[in-house]
Amino acid sequence: MDKNPHLEGLTGQVIHDEIVPARAPWMHRVKAGETLRVIDLEGNQAVDFLLYATADDAERYSAQDTIAAQANIFLRTGSVLLSNEGRPMMTVTETNVAYHDTIGGACSCESNTLRYGHHTKSQHACVDNFLHGNAAYGRNKRDMVSNINWFMNVPVDDDGTLGIVDGLSAPGLHVELRAEMDVIVLISNCPQINNPCNGFDPTPIRTIITAAG
Ligand SMILES: [Zn+2]
Repeated sequence: MDKNPHLEGLTGQVIHDEIVPARAPWMHRVKAGETLRVIDLEGNQAVDFLLYATADDAERYSAQDTIAAQANIFLRTGSVLLSNEGRPMMTVTETNVAYHDTIGGACSCESNTLRYGHHTKSQHACVDNFLHGNAAYGRNKRDMVSNINWFMNVPVDDDGTLGIVDGLSAPGLHVELRAEMDVIVLISNCPQINNPCNGFDPTPIRTIITAAG
């Protein structure tokens, strides 16, 4: 694969560049001023995403504060991701996907069982990825909060009904985030195979971090 298109438009020096396999967790620190680009390599891949402040991980991403402050339920270019203390953690500086979700939550073995039947109990899920990624740093179930789903399409009907439908994303599309404070980024490259959020076929993503500038 030609790597260059994925770097287009990035100005700072590349300090980290990784392919995250399908179904895998990924965690990395991003310092204030640095930019994280997440690329949906093959299209229609939900990327479940949590943020913790590096200085004190009791401060973390808050979907409620973010939605209330921007008076909109979708994340787009210009959205500021706020912490539970109301402080900016990251800003969506650019995305070529129409909007992203932060109300659909993360898939779990338990929710799979309820939604799709008991035979799905042993299937891998985002909650396991989040717990696995956080475990090495002493964080556990009480540190799980409502997450972001980059590239996932969760439309809200007039009566408030949520859907999980075919994605708006396509191969090579991306979202770009500038850190406004030092943060720990925790990703679950969603393993879900029972609904269209990953096109029923989880695929790899690419994460690129660039220096300020
Ligand atoms: Zn998932």
